[in-house]
Amino acid sequence: MPTRTLALALPLLLASFAFAQQAPIQITADLTDAPRKLFHAEIDIPVHPGPLAVTAAAWVPGHHATKHTDNDITGLVFTANGSVIPWRRDDVDLYQFHLTIPAGVTTLHAHLDYIVNIKATNALAVLEWEDLMLYPAGIPVRQIAIQPSVIVPAGWGVATSLHAISPGDPEHPADGRVHYAPTTVQMLEDSPIFTGINFREYPLATAPKPVFIDVFGDNPEEVELRPSVVAELQRLVPEAVAMYSSTHYDAYHFLLTLTKNGPYGGLEHHESSDNSLPNASFTTDEITAVAGPVLSHEYTHSWNGKYRRPAGLATPDFATPMKGELLWVYEGLTDYLGNVLGTRCGFMTPDQYHDYIAGVAARLDSTSGREWRTTADTAVGISGLQGGSAWANWRRGSDYYPEGDLVWLDVDTTIRKLTGDRKNLRDFLTIFVAGHGSTPPEIVPYDFDELVRDLNLVVPNDWAAFLRERVYQVQPHANTEGIEQGGWKLVYTDKPTPYSQIALRPGTAALNVWYSLGIAVDSDGSITDVRVGGPADKAKLAPGEKILVVDGHIYTNETLRKALRAAKTAAAPISFIIQSDTLVSTVAIDYHDGERYPTLVRVEGTPDYLDEILKPLTPAK
Ligand SMILES: [Zn+2]
Repeated sequence: MPTRTLALALPLLLASFAFAQQAPIQITADLTDAPRKLFHAEIDIPVHPGPLAVTAAAWVPGHHATKHTDNDITGLVFTANGSVIPWRRDDVDLYQFHLTIPAGVTTLHAHLDYIVNIKATNALAVLEWEDLMLYPAGIPVRQIAIQPSVIVPAGWGVATSLHAISPGDPEHPADGRVHYAPTTVQMLEDSPIFTGINFREYPLATAPKPVFIDVFGDNPEEVELRPSVVAELQRLVPEAVAMYSSTHYDAYHFLLTLTKNGPYGGLEHHESSDNSLPNASFTTDEITAVAGPVLSHEYTHSWNGKYRRPAGLATPDFATPMKGELLWVYEGLTDYLGNVLGTRCGFMTPDQYHDYIAGVAARLDSTSGREWRTTADTAVGISGLQGGSAWANWRRGSDYYPEGDLVWLDVDTTIRKLTGDRKNLRDFLTIFVAGHGSTPPEIVPYDFDELVRDLNLVVPNDWAAFLRERVYQVQPHANTEGIEQGGWKLVYTDKPTPYSQIALRPGTAALNVWYSLGIAVDSDGSITDVRVGGPADKAKLAPGEKILVVDGHIYTNETLRKALRAAKTAAAPISFIIQSDTLVSTVAIDYHDGERYPTLVRVEGTPDYLDEILKPLTPAK
């Protein structure tokens, strides 16, 4: 609505009246205090006299939510021509600071400190520039020029997708300082810096564009990747380029920390990804099967998420709230593709992928919250509604990730079925992420209608109804149609799959009794969630309680497993002694079906599309 646009635009223009960009903003990030969990920034902003609002990034791409809720920007002081300029925080937008620039001032200097909550130790540090950036409010971030520099502790290596312009080796700066070419606030937010004392870069590809992995570790031996892992990464690049028929980066850096300090996970960028994993993540083939797909997932985001972005997430600045409805594509399709590519390049075997997708389907099928909440609603809600593990299955969390694995497998196998296996999801991707060929980093928004149009170009079908039924309607059961069209079936057995036993941190795997007793339990007996409608729920167990004793024995994984097996042929219920806050009580669970774990079995006589999907597209070297 034009009136509303005008009403919004007017105060924004006034807020930035005193911004005078003849030259880029200069920002220097000082990371030398990283071991003390502090970053410092010096920022020079070109200005005119008059009122000015400067802002920190609030709604940051990839987070799909606001940042800085820990009040981590501190020590903020503005000066100009040697005098302190007072500021006042905006009452509503808490990331915005109002100032009045005095006559005669052309440069506003800002100093700030940032309290680092994660990813800064005495061996390594990760800078996402949104932690330090200040820039005029109300201007599209792609229009604001900014030139970054970084100072790192002596002897630390540096990796980033930014273009260095200082003399010498920018990855091993002799004086710890690196200057980079001017860019925009939008691209700087998209270009993190990784630095650390233990650093090794591995080239992965030279064509069609250069690709590297830059590894940082707590210890020197951790940055030495096994040759088989490097070979798998070197296969991932041509597999992705073959699947996506394009690139949207000039060069790409997998930035990886292997550290005992969590939290762990990935954050996508156009020309790099910020990956944080436990130390041992690539030390065996088994652990690599779980850790590797984090990298293929984040790499896929360069095409799906960064280049193609839902219109509601393609905001012009980092102040406009994001609308997450299409995260089942942004994250869900990426999850599907990341695991498929992770199998094609060799991180996972096809058998491990079967086990993976069986686990996804079973977990979603036992998520009780799907009785009241759609998958699309989990995506809409994530910008403000997050929660812990207690009753998580009734609340539903970021289910748009795993639901995407199932929906897009369904789409892939449906295309194969409708076209007699002449076409598949790659034909959709050729339109969706490669419709304009390869490009430098840029954002091309899409909406639901475009997805439907592009799918209909691959093969005519009522794709709108197909997607609305699966994503936008309440579905009490998980979508296993893709698995079944793929020639396989989800079943439950009394043995856990080998893949489900792999833990990223060795020794942390707990016994999975979710599909039997209906509880998620840590290896010390702490109950983290209770499946609504399951046997433990009927016996009134609750998250936060702790199992002390099972059938007369102190709780361990093994005593619980023995009790489940014994109950199969016993008439009596399984007895538990449960600690609930300061009370201890006896609870009986009348359960006799033994251990239950999900797995896939092949349906003979049907086309095995699933294993066809998992085959590499490019020849092995
Ligand atoms: Zn993702």
